[in-house]
Amino acid sequence: MIQNNYFSTNTDLVAQFSDIINWNEIIDAFEDNFTDAQEYAKTRNEALAYAPGNYEDALEYYRTLLDSLGEVAGTTIAPVAAEMDKEGLKYSNGKVVFPEAMTRAYKAIQEAGLQPYGISRRRGGLGLPCTVQALMMEVMGRADAALAIAVGCANLAETIERFASKEMSDKYVPQMSSGKLTGAMALTEPNYGSDLPGVQTKAEKGADGVWRITGTKRFITHGCGFTDTPSVILTLARTGTPTSGARGLSFFLVKGEDVHVASIEKKLGLHCSPTCEVVYDNSPGELIGEEGQGLVRYAMGMMNTARLSIAAQSMGIGTAAFYEARKYASERIQFGKPIEKIPAVKKMLEHMEREIAAMRCLLIEAARTVDLYLWRLERLEHSGMPDREVRKDETVRKWEKLANYFTPLSKYYTSEMCNKIAYDALQIHGGAGYTEDYDVARIYRDARITNIYEGTTQLQVVATIGGVVAGMAPAGHLRAYIDEELSKFQASATLLRVKANLEEAVVAFKSIADGEAKDMLAFELVEVSARFIAGMLMERSAARQKGAAQETRLDQIKKYHVDSLAIIAANLTKLKMAAPVAV
Ligand SMILES: Cc1cc2nc3c(=O)[nH]c(=O)nc-3n(C[C@H](O)[C@H](O)[C@H](O)COP(=O)(O)OP(=O)(O)OC[C@H]3O[C@@H](n4cnc5c(N)ncnc54)[C@H](O)[C@@H]3O)c2cc1C
Repeated sequence: MIQNNYFSTNTDLVAQFSDIINWNEIIDAFEDNFTDAQEYAKTRNEALAYAPGNYEDALEYYRTLLDSLGEVAGTTIAPVAAEMDKEGLKYSNGKVVFPEAMTRAYKAIQEAGLQPYGISRRRGGLGLPCTVQALMMEVMGRADAALAIAVGCANLAETIERFASKEMSDKYVPQMSSGKLTGAMALTEPNYGSDLPGVQTKAEKGADGVWRITGTKRFITHGCGFTDTPSVILTLARTGTPTSGARGLSFFLVKGEDVHVASIEKKLGLHCSPTCEVVYDNSPGELIGEEGQGLVRYAMGMMNTARLSIAAQSMGIGTAAFYEARKYASERIQFGKPIEKIPAVKKMLEHMEREIAAMRCLLIEAARTVDLYLWRLERLEHSGMPDREVRKDETVRKWEKLANYFTPLSKYYTSEMCNKIAYDALQIHGGAGYTEDYDVARIYRDARITNIYEGTTQLQVVATIGGVVAGMAPAGHLRAYIDEELSKFQASATLLRVKANLEEAVVAFKSIADGEAKDMLAFELVEVSARFIAGMLMERSAARQKGAAQETRLDQIKKYHVDSLAIIAANLTKLKMAAPVAV
């Protein structure tokens, strides 16, 4: 693996951080007038000692964290990624043994003060907006996808902080911050994966008032904990009748010591990420929040941040593939020259680079939409305001709707594209890419899970399509967002042509009468919307850059639009053929 600082040497990432992201609006949304810093000044509560007191401090704090993480990722984790992957996990009698190198790499992150990044300051976390969390996940994901997940698991505490009682949060979250506990999320069962409303693991309340859970969960990442650190397993279980559907499901916190890890999967990739079968046999569980809200409110409420996390991991894996391929192509000589000079290889490298730029624009915009509603929503929820009133808040309504479109869109786009980039990166390595001598083979295997877990691409399309169709209506939220963003820069004629294509695609899709045909073509419409939005965000980025960086991006954007027009032409043909009215 390339060994350098995975933040400071990544020019596109640094350009996003330094020139493109509008940090002030994110800092406003997250820091809420720098309340933590003000409280620290009054109370000297040590947990808030690092809370930034102004925009400059906040930005410096984020940059320092990303720079330190970039250094640890590129110089401590990346060098052992191949070794960890080769050694893998060992399972015996319910216990999972991790490679020594992985334990050391995890410790390096902790010792550098980079964990836990998803927990609030007052409960011992770093206190970071989603945009920074996403960039951190990207940087770790580039070094090693399995380790990135291990680090991310402790941050499941966010669910407890948001939805459990204060007593439960005070009891468990600080232990997750200090590294005494880690987290796992147990939704999937052997017979219910995408179809979560069907989950059948049962929870019953005994005469002693204790909930007891019985059933089997499958594919539970870190259900076994990490090394000697046990997990608290956030478990979806049925408190209603077997046929009570989504509203019969509740969320429980179950201690790792109260379940049995029956096995771990042998997998294509992510060799150091334990995927556990977890058996609950009358296991005690503590109810999180209210009965019946487990799927409809709590799991769904965490969906946007969960999707963002995997989109960011995909971003990291795709970036690793691109940089490894570019390095190899500069060193491998064929026909008397480096293969990077051969047009067919050059074309692949350029395509990868512009898709990486588009993916990052989408990821960061998705994170922005989450930041702009989530923290305000949490503050209102915790203020004691009735739920009905909270839901009427204009800012929350606007940005949550947009996040419900952007997070599945970015998850689908970055994970699919990360696979495509890994595929081409392996191709550029030729026969060497098919051996385990180069990192690209591992990267290719690890990439393959990203468009499956945390909801497959097909399910992301189901989640996105409504946001495109309703959102593009005359008074729709997506249309209003697009108008607002387009007013911030001078759009190119080609971008406006892509927009006109999107309008046509929406009309064609809406006029398809047959429901099944619509479901079959939903991907085509979602893809058209993704190409337009990514193109628009790239143009908006260019408008915030200067000099050579701007020139390079403008050149990249022209080619991106050409790719988009070709893809859209094919999709429009399919949509129009199915929509006789529009033909
Ligand atoms: C390595 C790994 C780690 C995981 N970690 C966790 C974890 O920590 N916690 C957890 O709870 N789960 C976890 N999972 C489970 C993961 O989220 C599921 O595998 C995933 O959601 C898909 O479910 P499934 O495997 O049952 O596939 P299925 O639901 O059986 O889907 C099979 C195919 O049918 C398609 N399909 C199904 N329904 C629809 C539909 N309505 N519309 C369109 N297409 C559809 C899917 O897209 C897919 O192509 C993990 C899985 C893996 C492999």
